[in-house]
Amino acid sequence: MNPISIHPSVDNGIAAEQPGFAGGVLQCLCDSDKVEVKVESQTQHNHACGCTKCWKPQGALFAVVAVAPRDKVSVVAHGEKLEIVDESATIQRHACRECGAHLFGRIENKDHAFYGLDFVHTELSPQTGWAAPGFAAFVSSLIEGGTPPSRMPAIREHLQKLGLAPYDSLSPTLMDALAIHAAKQKGTYREA
Ligand SMILES: [Zn+2]
Ligand SMILES: [Zn+2]
Repeated sequence: MNPISIHPSVDNGIAAEQPGFAGGVLQCLCDSDKVEVKVESQTQHNHACGCTKCWKPQGALFAVVAVAPRDKVSVVAHGEKLEIVDESATIQRHACRECGAHLFGRIENKDHAFYGLDFVHTELSPQTGWAAPGFAAFVSSLIEGGTPPSRMPAIREHLQKLGLAPYDSLSPTLMDALAIHAAKQKGTYREA
């Protein structure tokens, strides 16, 4: 059986986050005229994602994706090459139409719990020190992407070994954040 490739940024050890790291520039994969997106903050909630919509490098089972405040994310070069992958998706993923890399994903629905946060793949940045991935989300979705179900136990075990707790939705922290937002909208939220 092939060795399990979760993602190039975790397969050979996860790089440590650098205290005080304040951001960098994401670049698409084109050889020239790269789309560049500046992220002027450290990222949060970095994680491996097994869903079928997040952008994955060639051969990887997972994407690695984090969030940054949308007012800290700006296109600084070759924005003319960006297009939205799926206008109807909750997260509008802005990708380079030439190389296919996703530069940032943005939620335009102001009522969404994660409105105001853009989704970014910090592997596209030459800078080091970004927040390290802390868990794996939407692991069962790999099957929808073509992974045989028989491989799932080994994949989950491998994620555990890497320190990326596998979840079939988001992590408990993020699922709670979604539920808190929903409870506040319904008027059922209680602090204590
Ligand atoms: Zn490109
Ligand atoms: Zn995803």
